[in-house]
Amino acid sequence: MKRIGVLTSGGDAPGMNAAIRAVVRKAIYEGVEVVGILHGYQGLIEGKMEKLDLGSVGDIIQRGGTKLYSARCPEFRTEEGQKKAIEQLKANNIDGLVIIGGDGTYRGSMTLTKNGFPCVGIPGTIDNDIPGTDYTLGFDTALNTVIECIDKIRDTATSHDRTFIIEVMGRDAGDLALWAGLAGGAETIIVPEVEMKIEEVVERLESGTARGKKHSIIVVAEGVMSGQDFALKLKEHANIETRVSVLGHIQRGGSPTGRDRVLASLFGAKAVEVLMAGHGGRAIGIQNHQVVDYDMTEAFEKTEVFDQKMYQLSKELSI
Ligand code: ADP
Repeated sequence: MKRIGVLTSGGDAPGMNAAIRAVVRKAIYEGVEVVGILHGYQGLIEGKMEKLDLGSVGDIIQRGGTKLYSARCPEFRTEEGQKKAIEQLKANNIDGLVIIGGDGTYRGSMTLTKNGFPCVGIPGTIDNDIPGTDYTLGFDTALNTVIECIDKIRDTATSHDRTFIIEVMGRDAGDLALWAGLAGGAETIIVPEVEMKIEEVVERLESGTARGKKHSIIVVAEGVMSGQDFALKLKEHANIETRVSVLGHIQRGGSPTGRDRVLASLFGAKAVEVLMAGHGGRAIGIQNHQVVDYDMTEAFEKTEVFDQKMYQLSKELSI
């Protein structure tokens, strides 16, 4: 393998830059050239790429977003689009590709691997929803961002004796809501993986008020419903007044935490090693503190990754 490509695709996540840096530096250390492909699969189809040297990835380890830009590319879902991508890869003498993104990005890369072009995936998403890895890149940073927001909302909630609903991201997964809710001391956490009973939520709020709680924080994962819809439900069901905060894209930005930078460095280096060994269709992850690579198709299996025990604990600690 003489020349590899790297791209970021789908939703961006803090730590993507640190992963790009690790891919570039590790590959060059091993004597392999690296080409950065801009704007994900869209840029690949259009041949938007540039050679990356050691200096080109300087001063990005601490930056959120992605230096290579990201995009969603409907054309790449078609056979024609995939054919164009492979032609570009061949024309630019690229022998293998590291792709950084979520499960959509992984699915896209499988179409290339199936056509004989090796791709290795790094899980980059704040949602922590990729089976096969305990953590995805960006999750820890987003978690800390949400905690900071909950702390601030708690200040005003206390001052005004208010119940706040905080809507957090996570797509169909409840990890970000659970971890942030637990760390932020939320009274109630609503996630897609656990059926929500509105009567129970009301009961918890009322018993909290009865024992003198000045405020309540309810964290709602976007995969369940919007914060506004949940506020309506509470109003209709028990005439409870709430304030809603939708944290939105704040959660996707910011300087990556130390943990995400380390994870990005480990993932990036491992991806290069796997690619250099000639393996495609592999995903990089961390399992029980070990950096691993595994068959990418395992990342599409709908295995239960949600931590039900932690969810139960969050309830026990916020009675
Ligand atoms: P994420 O990687 O964050 O899950 P998306 O689901 O938007 O983000 O996927 C990113 C891109 O990957 C899409 O815009 C598309 O170009 C490509 N992609 C997703 N699913 C497929 C698929 N089944 N086949 C081919 N390409 C896909």
